[in-house]
Amino acid sequence: MIHTDDHHPHVLLIDDDQTLHLWAHRNLSETEFTLTSCFGGKEGIDAFMEYAPTIVIIDIEMPEMDGFATCAAIRSLPNGKNIPVVMMTVTEDAEKIAHAYASGATDFVVKPINWKVLTQRLRYMVKASRNIYKLEQSELRLTKAKKMAHLGYWEWQIDSNISYWSDEFYDMIGLRKEHFIPDNLSYKDYILEADKAYVVEQLQNVIKTKQPTTFECRVVTATSQQRFISQHIEPVEDHKGNLISLIGTVQDITERKEQENKIRHLAYYDEVTQLPNRVFFLKFLAKTLELSQRNNRNFAVLFLDLDGFKGVNDTYGHQAGDQLLLEISKRLTEGLRCSDLASRYFDHFDHKVDVARLGGDEFTILLNELTRPEDAATVAERIQRWITEPVALGDRLIHIGVSIGIAVYPYDGEDADTLLKNADIAMYHAKKLGKGNYQFFHEAMAIKAKKRLEMETYMHHAVAKNELRLHYQPVVDVTTGQLIGAEALLRWESPQLGFLPPNDFISLAEENGMINPFGEWAIRETCRQYQVWKQQGMGDLTIAINLSSLQFNQSSFVAMVAGIINEYEVNPAFLTFELTESMIMADTDNMLAKLNALKSLGVKLAIDDFGTGYSSLRYLNRFPLDSLKIDRSFVKELPVSADAVAIVSAILALAKALNLSTIAEGVETSQQNTFLQNTTCDAVQGFYFSKPMPVEEFQNYWLQQNNPVP
Ligand code: C2E
Ligand code: MG
Ligand code: MG
Repeated sequence: MIHTDDHHPHVLLIDDDQTLHLWAHRNLSETEFTLTSCFGGKEGIDAFMEYAPTIVIIDIEMPEMDGFATCAAIRSLPNGKNIPVVMMTVTEDAEKIAHAYASGATDFVVKPINWKVLTQRLRYMVKASRNIYKLEQSELRLTKAKKMAHLGYWEWQIDSNISYWSDEFYDMIGLRKEHFIPDNLSYKDYILEADKAYVVEQLQNVIKTKQPTTFECRVVTATSQQRFISQHIEPVEDHKGNLISLIGTVQDITERKEQENKIRHLAYYDEVTQLPNRVFFLKFLAKTLELSQRNNRNFAVLFLDLDGFKGVNDTYGHQAGDQLLLEISKRLTEGLRCSDLASRYFDHFDHKVDVARLGGDEFTILLNELTRPEDAATVAERIQRWITEPVALGDRLIHIGVSIGIAVYPYDGEDADTLLKNADIAMYHAKKLGKGNYQFFHEAMAIKAKKRLEMETYMHHAVAKNELRLHYQPVVDVTTGQLIGAEALLRWESPQLGFLPPNDFISLAEENGMINPFGEWAIRETCRQYQVWKQQGMGDLTIAINLSSLQFNQSSFVAMVAGIINEYEVNPAFLTFELTESMIMADTDNMLAKLNALKSLGVKLAIDDFGTGYSSLRYLNRFPLDSLKIDRSFVKELPVSADAVAIVSAILALAKALNLSTIAEGVETSQQNTFLQNTTCDAVQGFYFSKPMPVEEFQNYWLQQNNPVP
């Protein structure tokens, strides 16, 4: 160790010349130096190890071990590396001087010694050596500190494109200085792919604005480990303000991040089930509220409370209770994630539904972007099914139930607390009604929801139980008033629900796919009826059938129609299929091919409710259409509203230009009819002539037309 007594630096003098030692004592005793004398190399090395002097003076010419060997030996000692060593000789021989320095000498003096001068030199050397020592210590400390703070450093000189990485940064990236020379900003290669664009943007910003920045990102080390780093990047400018380099200090914050994650997990998740807890749920709810407000959307909060959980806890213990909760939470998350129903109602279902455990045996579920608030009931029913499946606890099967309360935004509350509270109240009602129930907070909605569910059940048997009907509404030639056709309109005569018009059940049927069998039934029934009329010699009427997009998009649709036409030997020229604008809006080759295929059966195609959708003139021209049905909302305002007159006239002009025939829907008055008679409109349909009628009634109407009562 270097002598640390700053006031009395310790000189070790090694020389075989006794007189020199006497002189040294005489001269140094009046100074701050203390002196230890040794008379040979070996003795000197021992003393060096024993006393750890501040400085060493060695004579070159000594018997046994000369000064060069002694100096080299001291230099090889652990504390000898940085000690100032002065060598003495009697001649100023260049070769000797070189040899002395090569052996590790710091300085060189020629005998006879001028002690005044040497003392000054010794002082200077001690001071310099102390400074070097201090510097080394502080560098050592800095390196240690950097290591402890996981701090690294890189520099990129923009002009020369030279990069430098500190050892710590090498360590962070998992590379070795010997194996990797950075160039350019090559550290970017180690940024996690997902963060790369962001980091590049940050760098570009520093270059552009010449302002420092600090940010966090992830790196993937050479050994494929992912680490979090925080970077502070400083731009360096020359005196003219030109950017010359970037300096980045980099800190590995992986442990801090992990710690933060742990803390976050503890704060936001439930320990037993690992589901989000109440705090998290309320946060998520607030966020959903904000989005729903902005987008004018509905969502539902389901409040679940297990029935009979306390019994399980009391009977089998808390551990069993926890196990049960875990199982329930799994069923909920998995069920909601893969439910076909769920995915039909919500796309990106994973992100839009959240299950949380509020505590005890209470869970909450957030159903986002409900098409219809009543749909929450369907989900509630499924949840009940999932939960009532027995749970195996050890070798026991446990049966548990659940009561569910439903609150729907915005009807049942416009803030998170109210919604949650009302869902809770609804749950309480459900419990009171008998366990295993669900209740909406809003009663009206409950009734609606129940109806929908009922309807869905009955709907499945409607075709098989022969509950569907077609009513026919006459289509009349506008100038002659002659019956030229009819539109077949679907009705459902349900023994349980009563007589239902299509507006009451078609949207549900479209949602659950029942529109396909319904639609096929309508086509088949129309054709069957057509055959009957033909056999009765009733003459030819064009019958229009409505199509839904779901039906039309079935790959087997055209083949199905062809099959039915064949089966009943219908002349396809007397069949019209009504499509809506939105159905064929996608102006694709695929759509064109499909329409052409349908058209090639010999049937006619009409656009229903024309004027209400987004019409592209391009598709009108490109698709093989025959007629437009002017929507009744325009006809209704004829001839009073100038706007309606303008629109209807425009549609008629358009149809004429495109060589399409026209039918005006919803004609209710003689004024409307008269107005249309004075236009190029071809046909009319509406209550003014007749409502849609059951088949016998329609037949009578038809017969009367053919043989008008005088
Ligand atoms: P739509 O195709 O536009 O049918 C015309 C609707 O307007 C019919 O209602 C008809 O009763 C009504 N209507 C006719 N004349 C007048 C009038 O002068 N005044 C008023 N206020 N209304 C009139 P409906 O039968 O209730 O059918 C409603 C919709 O249900 C239909 O509109 C059609 O889009 C759909 N639909 C009916 N049958 C089927 C079907 O078999 N398949 C499919 N996919 N949809 C059908
Ligand atoms: Mg129609
Ligand atoms: Mg219509």
